[in-house]
Amino acid sequence: MHRILSVTAHDVRFPTSRSLAGSDAMHTTPDYSAAYVVLKTTLESITSDMRGFWRAITGEQQLRWIGPEKGAIHLASAALINAVWDLYAKVEGKPLWKLLADMTPEQLVSCIDFRYLSDALTPEEALDILERKAPTRAAREAEMLRTGYPAYTTSAGWLGYSDEKLRTLCRARIVREEIGPDRHLMMDANQVWEVGDAIANVRQLAEFEPYWIEEPTSPDDVLGHATIARAIAPIKVATGEHCQNRVIFKQLFQAEAIGFCQLDACRLGGLNEVLAVLLLAAKFGVPVCPHAGGVGLCEYVQHVSLFDYIAVSGSLENRVLEYVEHLHEHFLDPVVIRDGCYVAPQRPGWSITMHPESVREFEFPAGPAWKSLDR
Ligand SMILES: [Mg+2]
Repeated sequence: MHRILSVTAHDVRFPTSRSLAGSDAMHTTPDYSAAYVVLKTTLESITSDMRGFWRAITGEQQLRWIGPEKGAIHLASAALINAVWDLYAKVEGKPLWKLLADMTPEQLVSCIDFRYLSDALTPEEALDILERKAPTRAAREAEMLRTGYPAYTTSAGWLGYSDEKLRTLCRARIVREEIGPDRHLMMDANQVWEVGDAIANVRQLAEFEPYWIEEPTSPDDVLGHATIARAIAPIKVATGEHCQNRVIFKQLFQAEAIGFCQLDACRLGGLNEVLAVLLLAAKFGVPVCPHAGGVGLCEYVQHVSLFDYIAVSGSLENRVLEYVEHLHEHFLDPVVIRDGCYVAPQRPGWSITMHPESVREFEFPAGPAWKSLDR
């Protein structure tokens, strides 16, 4: 029996729309937000059966029909599941990436629900991927402790504007001139284009040599992504921050629709499903560059990428981890960037505990930060 004794949830929002930090073509005035969950549990009843726990949460009889495994109910599942992993790592006295890196291939596979995956990835194949990398984990862990995980930033140019072509072309030219010919330039369409527009626009932008084009169209349009990917090659398609579950990722991989997998640790059903997607990506040979930048997302995914390198992919080729310089001051164990890399966190847990004062200040709508603002 999986026991959660109590749960409290806080609706924490930051008035980022005032500065337009985080604005993009689809979200012109976003307030960055998080459902902040604190739970009490008999942890052992859950950690002894992580796969069963995940199935119990995502398959809950009265709630499953709101999804299943998508949208707000899946975000809520992720909040609970990730809170359990944070607590687990704290109790074990390890940062989450290290807790995972110390688990055996069998233990890791036992956390994953393979339902709907078996045509693309079986438990045996997942075990094989993990076992192949197990003997060399220690060397990669030492390397990560030495160098950290390579980062890139998206906050260079928030584009809270329309997709007006001239402006986009003009921006691309300015950025390319500034960074020179040798650095990678990534572009993010934030879902705003039709499939045909995406192909035409990326062909126009090709002269600026984008490394990838991110979210060129609807995040649900698997075949649309595949059409775009074929038409704009060798420029690659990146997507995943709105990819709702492992099944859509499976289809994106099967259809050869993406060149980069940008999974989101809070949109997928928590860490258990993240593990499934890391292994799917490894099977299909697609690099994982997780989505970050929201409230605590950088804190979350640094652990995911460290683990991916140490135990799953074993490669840094074509892999970078998103970084945005905001809202870290609200966390007890904020990310540290050194020489363009995420420094491997050392404190026990998943680095996502917030300062109680920040939760109080920014709780919506009663927190002082919101009371003092005209809305
Ligand atoms: Mg994006």
